[in-house]
Amino acid sequence: MNVTSTRGGVAELPLADALVGATAPDGGLFVPATFPPENARNPRGPTLADSALAVLAPFFAEDRLSDVLPAMVAEAFNFPAPLVPLRNRHDFVLELFHGPTAAFKDFGARFLAACIRRLHPHGGGLRTVLVATSGDTGGAVAAAFHRMSGVRVVLLYPDGRVSPRQAHQLGAFADNVTALRVAGSFDDCQAMVKAAFADPELAPLQLTSANSISLGRLLPQLAYHAHAAWSSGEMLNLIVPTGNLGNAVAAVWARELGAPIGDIVLATNANRTLAEFFEGGAYRGRPSVTTLANAMDVGDPSNFERLSWTYSDPAVLRRRVRARLVSDEHISRTIQQGERRHGQVFCPHTAAGVWVLEQIRGSSGARTGTWAVAATAHPAKFEGIVEPLVGHPVEVPPALAALLDRPSHAEPLAADASALRRWLLDHA
Ligand SMILES: *Cc1c(COP(=O)(O)O)cnc(C)c1O
Repeated sequence: MNVTSTRGGVAELPLADALVGATAPDGGLFVPATFPPENARNPRGPTLADSALAVLAPFFAEDRLSDVLPAMVAEAFNFPAPLVPLRNRHDFVLELFHGPTAAFKDFGARFLAACIRRLHPHGGGLRTVLVATSGDTGGAVAAAFHRMSGVRVVLLYPDGRVSPRQAHQLGAFADNVTALRVAGSFDDCQAMVKAAFADPELAPLQLTSANSISLGRLLPQLAYHAHAAWSSGEMLNLIVPTGNLGNAVAAVWARELGAPIGDIVLATNANRTLAEFFEGGAYRGRPSVTTLANAMDVGDPSNFERLSWTYSDPAVLRRRVRARLVSDEHISRTIQQGERRHGQVFCPHTAAGVWVLEQIRGSSGARTGTWAVAATAHPAKFEGIVEPLVGHPVEVPPALAALLDRPSHAEPLAADASALRRWLLDHA
């Protein structure tokens, strides 16, 4: 399958050329030139990996990676994404946090790593995967590329603005992974990374992007939405906790492919850009505000361009997708009451989704059907927020516990593009 740009300003190119990396040459984002026709309607496998292969194979048909796709899928989908019922037995959480770093980003990062392993086999010199992270992306990327030959990973995170366990995790890999704690905000980290990619002096380092607009991270995320919908045995409505819209666009595309997904509702935190748009206002990106659901602190979600490409008429987009804003107060209360009401402890992002579910269920008894909330991270990753609210310790999943047992080290760095350039050249 070929890809094109959301802005229509580039000739079609093969998927393999667009899996890794950021924007299209015309400044848009890469999107499928055509969706494989209804490919997700029938082929449901017994395991998530079987379904992933069924969903992804048509995208890779005739691509130079098509022969190795089964191996890539096996590497990325080696942990489950179970649909777990809530206490009411009508609704579910789709647990996406059973990977090595306990957040859904493990799926995309592992698939991207599988792509890079095939596209750039060792021998072409050392590649540097450079990522700015507000917490979860960096860990997932580090875990996915840890000890991969020919690749080193450099992570930038805002010092003091990620949870203590996230910080420990980012610094715990060592080997080919370096964590840089930047004296600034996430926006500073992102600006520094952007400047590095544009810097001709750094070209010999073969800087490689792993951010969430890479198709190699987005496409695998279609698989668990489709697999969940098939597994539910009926039409499944989805609530997706949303920041940069990567997970949400994946859900929308899975529905476009024919997976039995009904309504899609985005749960956002106090960053109001999407809520305003879906209430009928203009799209207006802005700086992010800090909330309890820090991985969703995005004021100008870059994947909005893919969403509005998918449904180019805003009226249609507002019919096919809805959004609800969730305040920190409602996130806290949902975590606090989660065990009593639903039998579960939620992370702050998942809690935003569960609050939206409660509103939908509460406001109209007539709204039937089955709903699933994407559970985007394990609550143990955000123990500083979650444990005081639930009043007891949250058990740490084994993979995360293993990382937290390792020593952790991060190097300090000024929030300045020239400091990053110097660091990269000194450590080339
Ligand atoms: C990244 C992340 C989100 C937001 O996902 P997007 O694809 O950026 O919308 C939500 N929850 C958690 C835990 C995350 O790490």
